[in-house]
Order: sequence, then C-alpha cells, then structure tokens
Amino acid sequence: MTPQQNDITYVKGIGPVRAAALRNNGIHSISDLLYNFPFDYLDRSRITKIKELPKLVEAGREVTVIGTVFRAETKFTRNRKRIFFLTMKDETGFLTCVFYNGIEWYQKAFAPEEILAVSSVPELDKYNRVQFIHPEFDRLKTKDEEDETDWNSLLHTGAIIPKYHSNEELRNAGLDNRGFRRIMKNVIRQHLQTVQEHLPAEMIRRQSLCSINQALAMIHFPKTYEERDTALRRLKFDELFYFQLLLAYRRKEIKGALTGISFKIRGALSTQLEQSLPFTLTDAQKKVIGEILSDMEQPVPMNRLLQGDVGSGKTIVALLAMLTAVENSYQAVLMAPTEILAEQHWRSISQLVRDLNVNVRLLVGNQKKKLREDILEDIRRGSAQIVIGTHAIIQEHVQFAHLGFAVIDEQHRFGVAQRAQLREKGKENPDVLVMTATPIPRTLSLTVYGDLDVSVIDELPKHRKPIRTAVRAENDKPKIFEFVHSEILQGRQIYVVYPLIEESEKVDLKAATAEYESMKKVFPEFSVGLLHGRMSSDEKDDVMKKFLIKEIHILVATTVIEVGIDVPNASVMIIENAERFGLSQLHQLRGRVGRGAEQSYCILISEPQYMQKQLITSSDRAAVYDEIRASKKRLQTMCETTDGFKIAEVDLQLRGAGDYFGTRQSGMPGFRVANVVTDYDILLLAREEAFTLVAKDPNLARPENKNIRYQFENVFKDLLSFVRVG
Ligand code: ADP
Ligand code: MG
Repeated sequence: MTPQQNDITYVKGIGPVRAAALRNNGIHSISDLLYNFPFDYLDRSRITKIKELPKLVEAGREVTVIGTVFRAETKFTRNRKRIFFLTMKDETGFLTCVFYNGIEWYQKAFAPEEILAVSSVPELDKYNRVQFIHPEFDRLKTKDEEDETDWNSLLHTGAIIPKYHSNEELRNAGLDNRGFRRIMKNVIRQHLQTVQEHLPAEMIRRQSLCSINQALAMIHFPKTYEERDTALRRLKFDELFYFQLLLAYRRKEIKGALTGISFKIRGALSTQLEQSLPFTLTDAQKKVIGEILSDMEQPVPMNRLLQGDVGSGKTIVALLAMLTAVENSYQAVLMAPTEILAEQHWRSISQLVRDLNVNVRLLVGNQKKKLREDILEDIRRGSAQIVIGTHAIIQEHVQFAHLGFAVIDEQHRFGVAQRAQLREKGKENPDVLVMTATPIPRTLSLTVYGDLDVSVIDELPKHRKPIRTAVRAENDKPKIFEFVHSEILQGRQIYVVYPLIEESEKVDLKAATAEYESMKKVFPEFSVGLLHGRMSSDEKDDVMKKFLIKEIHILVATTVIEVGIDVPNASVMIIENAERFGLSQLHQLRGRVGRGAEQSYCILISEPQYMQKQLITSSDRAAVYDEIRASKKRLQTMCETTDGFKIAEVDLQLRGAGDYFGTRQSGMPGFRVANVVTDYDILLLAREEAFTLVAKDPNLARPENKNIRYQFENVFKDLLSFVRVG
C-alpha cells in the first residue's frame, strides 16, 4: 500500500469528522483500521432467551440477550439518587437493566424499538426478578433501518458479528460498534487487495498459514469460528515471528559481533571460598556454576539467566562467578532492586569473603557525601573489586576501571534498559548474569528472556522442611495468637505482612501501624517491630538488624520484605488479607520462612466477607466474580504446593502473559492477538523460522525476504519499539 492509498479518508463512510476522531484514537491509516481487530464477537450460540435467565443466575456467567427497547425511565430513590431503568423485550419476556452512573448519557442513548444485544451476569433483585446491572450493550439496528442487517443474519444465518472498542469521542462521530462494522465492511471490500503478502510463499506453505488478505478479511467478518481461528493463527504467527526475529537479531548482536572477556576459571579465590563453605553445594548449584564458568571461559559475552526458587542458594553461585572475575583482575558488580536487599547481600558477601582479602563496597542512594565519594573513587580506581548496590550503580557518574562481570538480582524488578545500562558500564563487554527467584514458566522464558541462555537451580538445599501452609479466617485469630506465642517461646520469630490496601502508601502505612499497635497489646511480653516503605534506610536497617539478632520477636511489615530477606530463625509468616496478593508475591513472602532447620508455617488470613462486600458495591460484577474465583485459586494453590515453578504456571494462567510481569518492565511487546502462553506451539514454530532466517539471510537481502524486512522495520516498529533497547 502506498502512503496515499493508506489514507483513512479514502474509505467510504469516513469524512473529516470521523477521520479526526479515529486519529485521536491512534488510527491513522487504513492499515491501522485493518489491524484494529474486533475484541469479541456476538454469536448465536451465546444468545439467551429472557425466560431462560432465572436458571442462569446461579452460574454467575455473562450471557447475552437480544431484544428491542421497550421502556426507558429514570426513578429516584428515597435519598434522591437517580437510577435509570431500561426494559428490554424479546418474544419470551421482559428484562430490566439498571444503571446507577452516567444517567444523563443513558437517558439519551436508547431509541424506542431499537434492537440491542445486552451482556451481563444475570442477578436477582429484591423481588427475585432477574436484572442486569450496568450491562454492556451493543446496538444492532433501529426498527426502521433497512440495510443488510446484522441482526437478521445473526439470528437467521448464524453469522458472527464483530464487536469493536469504542468510546465517547468515537461514538459522537457515529463510530459506535455498529458504525465501526459499517466502515470495516467498506475497508475490507475496497482496500484489502492493496495489502501485500509479506511472508515468503515457502514459509506460508511450510507452516500451513492462510494469506494475509484472507486473515484480515476473516478476522473481521468470519463466517464460522473455524474461519476466525484460521485468521487468528496467521495473525498470531506474524506477531510472534517478528518478535522472535528481533530476539534473533539481538542475540546475534551480543553473541556474534562482540568480543568478550575470556576468563581463566577455578582460580585461587573461588576455590578457597568453595572449600570454606559451611555446607556442600547442591548438585543443581554445581551444575549451574559449571554452565556459568564455561560461558566465562569463552571470548563471547555471557548473557545468562539464573532461575532458582527462593532459598535455592543463588547468591553463592553468583559470588563464585564474581570471584572468578576478581581472580582475573576484573571488577564485579551486583545490582539489587532495593536497598534492604543490596545491604543484605553486601553483609553476607562481605562475611563469606572475609578471609579472602577482597574489597567489597556498597553503593546505594542516600549515603553521606564523603563516604559516597570515597566509594566512587574506589570504583574508578579499580580497588573496589566487588561492588554491590541498587540502581544507584547505573547512574552516569559511576565509572568502573575495568568491569568484567555484572549480576542483576531479581531481574524482573528491572527493565531491559537497565540491564543494558549495567552492561555498558564495562568497556570490554562484561559477562552478564541475571537472577530471578520468580520462576518463569518455560513458555515465558523463550519470550521475555528469549535472547538469554538459561540455567536453572531445580533443587533446594537438603534438610529443608517444606513449609506448612493454611488459610484461616479473621475469627481464627485467638488460636493463631496462641500458636505464635508458643513458637516464640520455643525461640522462633514471626512475620506479619500487610498488603497495600489502597493505592496510597499513607493508608497502607496506617493499616500496618494499627496492626503493629494491636500486636503490641496482644503480646506485651514480646518485642514487636514495624517495617514499612516510608522509613529511611537507616531506620529500616536498624529494624532488620534487631530482627536478625532476635531483639525483635514479631515483625509487622508491609511488602517491603517481599524479596530476598534472609532470617533463618523466622518460622511463621502470617499474611493478612491474603486474597489481595498476587500468587508470586505470596510465594515470595512465604519464602522468607523455611530457611532454617525448623518446621515453618505460613498462615494466609483471608476474609470471605470482604469479598462479599466488594461484590455488593461494585458495578462491574463480572470482574468481581472473576477476581473472587482467581483469589480462591491463588490461596488454594499456595496450600497445595511449595514448588515455585508450579506456582508460576498457575499464576500465569490466572493473570495472562501481559500482566505477568507488567508489559514494559519485562520488555514484552503489546501483542494484539498472540498470547505467549496459550500460543506456545505457534511461538516455537515462529521462533524456529525467525532464527533460521537470520542464520541464512542475515541482511534479509534475498528477494523473497524483501517484504519481511519492510514489515519488520515499518509495520512492527511500534509493537517492538521498546523491546529494542536491550
Ligand atoms: P536465594 O536463591 O533465595 O537468593 P540465598 O542465596 O539467599 O537464596 O540462600 C538461602 C540460604 O541458603 C542462605 O542462608 C545460604 O547461605 C543457604 N545455602 C545456600 N546454598 C546452600 C547449600 N548448598 N546448602 C545449605 N544451605 C545453603
Ligand atoms: Mg536472593
């Protein structure tokens, strides 16, 4: 398509007003329109007759009713609040839809006899009549409309009708769902043939894909669900293919073009450390150390991910690798996401290397100026052999004399850009090891970390007892306190964690502080501490130290303790409002106990009433039902397993890939249709094609690959732009 052909005003039905509205919503061209896929479809199989609704209340699932507008009226409650009622009618009965908000808009929205599809979870009102509360609705047609109607085809031919996202601005320009459908019909009819195929015929055949033209036509107006699936498969393949192409280039760039440092391995320092450890390394630790060291020997920069569940002993693995760099007269750096964590690493690593005469320095945000300058000088001169810190390390004025090895702990807390920035601190392409205790399902590691090699510690140190986990209610508290009491008398320590209840740290803090006060009253004979994100790092440090030396028995905390904190004597983790936490967060929190030889416990306190209340007050009930189902599943999974990989898989299923790490954070593109988890099979095929292509035709110079190159550089640019930084 030439740029002129691509102008949206060429589409029949789009004049200046609609064009402006579309542009404001990010749709600038005909290609943008073609790629503005329906978010859902209406189909006959999901349409319910009104008289069937009472039977479906129990199921709590969304259903769709098609009918005509019978009556619309606004009523007042006793305290003068307005409620808008819309009564729909089909040949089997009447249905009332209730709207509490946006009354003004709804009052004008519906014409008598208009035909609508309304979707919601059916519920009973106080007279046991079925009602829809704030349903989603979709205009099908007004009574006097005579065009080839969606509505008729829907009911009589079983056609599938696309649903498009709209908003107030678009609606005002006549582009509600129905308006969108009309212009999309025109786009497909008039302009589809100008779209060029970009994949080579060979690849299309090999992967049994349909053509791009067929795919675009069928995604908008499928005749059957098979057609839609065929279209989806092609469009998903495209997204995954170009994404993997990017990863293939990135890996080639790091591996192929750059020369790295070739370290001599198993020198004096690392050997001495390994021999002086108070424990023997697990087989899994030995295996991953082998993998890392063999990378370090190669004159190619290492780019490796180390995955290991909480408590699997990643720190010692990283330290052995860092000492290898130090033996070779290079500096090593370890970057952690929080100050507490950086300080803890600094303390434990300093302790481990105390007999080795290695200079370990800590660099964090708010150190005193004089100390800070001394550290920076030490780093610049190269006399700081191991540097541990927060993202303070990647700031511009931090200069290393000869950085050879970089470790990033809890990688998922950092962006791809920060990984690159750390690497750039070395003049000679340092080896990079990223570590994560959030186990990444296999399906995701090929995407999020698709350009990395992966090592896995799949074994915990021996003699660890699995943590016992249970869900308890608020009124089990007396029993729980009794238990806490007896554990402390046996010398153990306790964590009580509070979630971020509101999206505001202040409220969060208030809740934790209140809990702290009440715990002090319940346990006057013990010492209770409080830890939260608003404390200065000195204060936090002070509390943590007191907890470490058992001066504090019960530590009430917000989620600041989530990652990495290591106090082996703590044996009980109590998590308040556990239903509000994500699964991997719960797993991380639980990982704070079970680090010593004693039996440890995790008590998840969850209040069913809280969820009920949420249900009563929310207008988006379908979402609340989903959330309740999901939170039950999370708590149940926690009780069933302590295996981080299993937990990660469930978490991923519950949350979907986009949300798993937060899209930008992870460097994952915002796919329109592909889902790296559920489309794993397509992902593997696309990856294979992309990596083979880069190996065979690295410059995409062959005629059959010319369009791939164009597509890669132009069309997928937006999708991939921010992935490119790493
Ligand atoms: P994580 O992988 O969660 O970062 P750490 O490196 O903090 O785990 O290790 C957790 C604890 O286990 C530390 O106290 C560490 O000294 C100890 N540890 C590490 N490796 C072993 C081992 N092979 N045997 C026994 N304890 C170990
Ligand atoms: Mg750790």
